[in-house]
Amino acid sequence: MIRTTRLVTIPSHIKQEEELHPEATGTFSSLMQDLTLALRIIAWEVRRAGLNDILGITDNTNYNGDIVRKLDDYSNSVIIRAMDHGGNLCVMASEESDGLISIPEKYVKGKYVLVFDPLDGSTNIDVNITIGTIFSIYQRIDPDSKSDGTLDDILQPGHKQVAAGYVLYGSSTTLVYTSGHGTHVFTYDPTIGEFIMTFENLEIPKRGNLYSCNEGNFFKWNNQRIRDYVNYLKTPSEDGVRPYNLRYIATSVADIHRTIYYGGIYLYPEDTSSPKGKIRLVYEANPLAMIIEQAGGKAISGTQRLMDIVPEHIHQRVPFFVGSKDDVTDLEIFLRNGKL
Ligand code: MG
Ligand code: MG
Repeated sequence: MIRTTRLVTIPSHIKQEEELHPEATGTFSSLMQDLTLALRIIAWEVRRAGLNDILGITDNTNYNGDIVRKLDDYSNSVIIRAMDHGGNLCVMASEESDGLISIPEKYVKGKYVLVFDPLDGSTNIDVNITIGTIFSIYQRIDPDSKSDGTLDDILQPGHKQVAAGYVLYGSSTTLVYTSGHGTHVFTYDPTIGEFIMTFENLEIPKRGNLYSCNEGNFFKWNNQRIRDYVNYLKTPSEDGVRPYNLRYIATSVADIHRTIYYGGIYLYPEDTSSPKGKIRLVYEANPLAMIIEQAGGKAISGTQRLMDIVPEHIHQRVPFFVGSKDDVTDLEIFLRNGKL
């Protein structure tokens, strides 16, 4: 069921958006064309996982100390191979690559920057549970430069994102995308090889009745006020609004996707084993925050708007709280006052 009257593919949507900006040169749509090619190839490979020898782990761990699965590696290299020669990018960064990913010398350096988590939820790959790809695009700091992009081009605050999105490889393959004009959903139709718009201007409910977190870490959470807030959500209220229900897939992009549709809150606080939380600011939290804000929700790190943080490190982690506006505001009040 397509919940929009216009029949639009992702390339035609981007083209229409570019027409709103007379200064646009078409490089952005060419960049997105290369990126959606990579995403379609990854989707195809994910669909066949188990049939070919791509499940399981490699002998490597990445910068973050996670075990690298074969599909992590595969997806990382597909995105790099699709993106490094189009002349649209000056540098990239990925969860699966330690430092900057440079554009090879022989190719033109463009004015955009791409950061991505090639496969989110990779511990769920081998058990056939939803996984995803997260990406974010910035303009380089000096748009006229023709040289290699630098670390500063990567370490821009989230509010500078030009576009952000994620693909979920779930019961269908879904691309959720924003370029700052609302959040739109495209569903992949494998028979015609296109992402077709299925929701235009997705809106997260103002309040939900679901919360999503790794509650197994409850006693490891550093902040008593987070525990108090979660206990509050679980305490029945006379009006029947509480208790909230718990939902947790442990693929953050999938948990956030459900949160956008149904409302509620997703929490990944700091704890005694992850003193900065677990979510990565640059290529996970910021793109998800932009998608959520563009859908009318809210994304914070506890003390501030998430997209205002200036990153210091490609792989920096951040406490991450996102969801319905009223739910995240309740949490902010708890964090400030210890109660509502
Ligand atoms: Mg991830
Ligand atoms: Mg990953």
